[in-house]
Amino acid sequence: MSDCIFCNIVTGESPSHKVYEDDDILAFLDINPINPGHTLVIPKEHYKDLTDTPPELASKLIQTVQKIKPAILGAVGADSFNLGVNVGKKAGQVVFHTHFHIMPRFEDDGHKLWGGKQVAQDELALTAEHIKKLL
Ligand code: 5GP
Ligand code: ZN
Repeated sequence: MSDCIFCNIVTGESPSHKVYEDDDILAFLDINPINPGHTLVIPKEHYKDLTDTPPELASKLIQTVQKIKPAILGAVGADSFNLGVNVGKKAGQVVFHTHFHIMPRFEDDGHKLWGGKQVAQDELALTAEHIKKLL
């Protein structure tokens, strides 16, 4: 058994409701779904988060999202979804094995998007300049 719950799901040592699998990628239902059909898409190989994941593998994650999204939405009768990636503890990441959340959304499902803050244009300009200097 690994310390990582998702690695254990990959090996089958921990149970899960798998919906898709190929050589590199696994998708299974979230144990605490925000809505029916909430699915996690992960690389089978362990990386702690998206930024740590080789670009080719990250690309396969996206391709898998595109491939399985129609079936997930079709199964639960949704026409919209949020794609979620939490990177780091402060952003809500709890499991440190790269994963995308596919979260089907429904009218009046009780979930909201983040609220934006009002900021001055010059503050946006300063932040943009700062970011560009660090690239
Ligand atoms: P994070 O907050 O790290 O982006 O999301 C981790 C997700 O993994 C959570 O939505 C949580 O419900 C899900 N999760 C945690 N442990 C398990 C598990 O053992 N099995 C499954 N299927 N999902 C899990
Ligand atoms: Zn892992």
